[in-house]
Amino acid sequence: MSRRPRVVVVGAGFGGLEAVRKLAQTDCEVLLLDARNHHLFQPLLYQVATAALSPADIAEPVRAIVRKQKNVQVLLREVTSVDLAGQAIHVGAEEVAYDWLVLAAGARTAYFGNDEWARLAPGLKTIDDAIEIRRRVLMAFEEAELEEDEEARRAKLTFVVIGGGPTGVEMAGALREIAAMSIPEDFRRVDTKTARVYLLEGGPRLLPTMSEEASRRALEQLEGLGVQVRLDTMVTEVDDGCVWVGDDSVAAANIIWAAGVEASDLTRTLGVDIDKQGRIEVEGDCSLPGYSRAFAVGDIAAQVDAATGEPVPGVAQGAIQMGAFVGEIIARELSNASPPPRRPAFRYRNKGEMATIGRARAVADVGGRTFGGVLAWLLWSVVHVAFLVGFRNKLLVMVHWAWQWLVQSRGARLITGGFAPRVADPVDLDEAARSAD
Ligand SMILES: Cc1cc2nc3c(=O)[nH]c(=O)nc-3n(C[C@H](O)[C@H](O)[C@H](O)COP(=O)(O)OP(=O)(O)OC[C@H]3O[C@@H](n4cnc5c(N)ncnc54)[C@H](O)[C@@H]3O)c2cc1C
Repeated sequence: MSRRPRVVVVGAGFGGLEAVRKLAQTDCEVLLLDARNHHLFQPLLYQVATAALSPADIAEPVRAIVRKQKNVQVLLREVTSVDLAGQAIHVGAEEVAYDWLVLAAGARTAYFGNDEWARLAPGLKTIDDAIEIRRRVLMAFEEAELEEDEEARRAKLTFVVIGGGPTGVEMAGALREIAAMSIPEDFRRVDTKTARVYLLEGGPRLLPTMSEEASRRALEQLEGLGVQVRLDTMVTEVDDGCVWVGDDSVAAANIIWAAGVEASDLTRTLGVDIDKQGRIEVEGDCSLPGYSRAFAVGDIAAQVDAATGEPVPGVAQGAIQMGAFVGEIIARELSNASPPPRRPAFRYRNKGEMATIGRARAVADVGGRTFGGVLAWLLWSVVHVAFLVGFRNKLLVMVHWAWQWLVQSRGARLITGGFAPRVADPVDLDEAARSAD
């Protein structure tokens, strides 16, 4: 009996899942491998890191997503290398052959040669990252409440976000909002409204991939919230509790890295050309040069829009569109016994870019126009809920947002992973008790 063709898809993120969906009606076996058991909606990760949403609200088990697509087998495995010439992927010492390959392993946080900063300034890429940032942020307020030493308390109430792209802007806005609006009444000794949030950006403007108008409005809205934005400010060193910009420094208990990502390490095992961010320099049809049945989509691929020659941005819609494009190519060629027709080149349709800046504030570039304030925030909310995977998640996120809107509270304020406050001069507990009214 002849074997059905096998399509191996590495990564169940936006790109990989979309490619898998396009193979639903084909006579092939699809092997979907992911190092994690869940698909993660990264655009809302900062809301987990800032205690607005719970991890399960923005993640969905991969098995549940493809449950009805019977030609898919999901395996929880991390692919360690790929042998393009031998048409096989490796999971450690194990080898799995493929007829078609879709690499969609995404990106990871990049410290650009300063990997030692990772421990001191965590990035935001996974659920674990978000829970760790949430732990640090919430612990900072708890430690400030226990602290007698004025300088140490000041540092506990200082947050530095490095990187002024959408993640940095969203984190900085949410941190100020927590400190100024969500929790002040929950503390007795410390005035959380005095918390300082710095947003440091190396370039001349925030949100560099968006319009200048969006950058200007984002700056205005962040400053309105009380965030201290520093542009043209390149971080030169990160210490335990301190960020350096040349000879200047800010003492901060909480440092968050939102300054960049690079492609999954898998790209380095392929033996094909990769760019400075580790992305595979793919052909117009998203195939790997010299390997017409191996493709890369999403953050792992350096692709240009065939119409404009502009690079396709590392965003969810780019990954979804590339995944669909490649899935359709494979489906077409699987069902076509004659030699494949000439493949089209990938074209990117930019449906707009947006970033939110706290409660009812956002900026959006859509259809050549820039929106700000409540309108942009509504647009942002609708789009994000629409793209969340799973009806339960859509519903829960809407309910959480509505609740937060009404009561200005954050429901996921859990400190997990240990509680050992680091306090320079701890307050006398008896005295602390007397701070209650
Ligand atoms: C904090 C944050 C906020 C963002 N906000 C936005 C936004 O507002 N709008 C927007 O459009 N985009 C946003 N993005 C970018 C967007 O999330 C990415 O562009 C998109 O997820 C890329 O999709 P992908 O399929 O290439 O990779 P991913 O969605 O990252 O999926 C990659 C998958 O591959 C798996 N994987 C990785 N390595 C291996 C391996 N070796 N073996 C097996 N599996 C592996 C991973 O576990 C993961 O499931 C944001 C990203 C982050 C981190």
